[in-house]
Amino acid sequence: MRLTVLGSGGWIPTSSRQTSCYLITSGTQALVLDAGTGLGTLHINPSLLDGVETVTVVLSHFHLDHVTGLGLVSARGLGDRELTIAGPGSLCYGRPTRSILEEQLLASPLQTASPVAPARWAELGWETLSFAGHEVVTWEQTRHSLPSAGLRVGDRFAYCTDTEFDPETIRRTAGVTTLLHEAWQPVDAERGHTSGDEVGVIAAQAGVARLIITHNHPLPGVPERTAAAAQAQFAAAVCATDGAVLEL
Ligand SMILES: [Zn+2]
Ligand SMILES: [Zn+2]
Repeated sequence: MRLTVLGSGGWIPTSSRQTSCYLITSGTQALVLDAGTGLGTLHINPSLLDGVETVTVVLSHFHLDHVTGLGLVSARGLGDRELTIAGPGSLCYGRPTRSILEEQLLASPLQTASPVAPARWAELGWETLSFAGHEVVTWEQTRHSLPSAGLRVGDRFAYCTDTEFDPETIRRTAGVTTLLHEAWQPVDAERGHTSGDEVGVIAAQAGVARLIITHNHPLPGVPERTAAAAQAQFAAAVCATDGAVLEL
């Protein structure tokens, strides 16, 4: 599996970080974690999907820094690939993901027409999704300002964003090789988010091999200080950076 970071920032896109979007490819399959502004990179650089036939976008929740990229989907970026969009609408909000997005964000007058009209829609926790021979396991995270979903693919990786420190995360991600987890500020992160020292504790207690910090703060210097706080608890911690390519 190959991870390409398309958006390593949270909340506000900056000149160096688009908002949350992670492309993972394996053979003819692609899994996209969140659809922040980084998803537009697929239009700018469509070769990122060379050899890919099916694309599944999994949304952690519906805050704009995780979904606005759905408005940037194009034929040039996705070609005629089979697209599935899965979200936690039914799991966390009692309303289908498609209705939350297509009736508001992707509808006129915000969009001329839905850029993802041909997509198949799926509900996390209701339908079984798989990637590279593994079931995509998801769960509700209840410690953000609005609920979000965590995700795990076999023992290869897990993705947990927009959540405070949660002991449930340690249990859910135990033993994965790579943990992608948000951290927002070095210590005492604002409510709904995890601090650098807390995410280091999560990685250490979950026994992961590598921690990649996602949803980095937009203000200069904060991600570096957050990573340092994480590294004090767990040495193999790095901030995700846009354009980075890693083997998972
Ligand atoms: Zn966010
Ligand atoms: Zn959020």
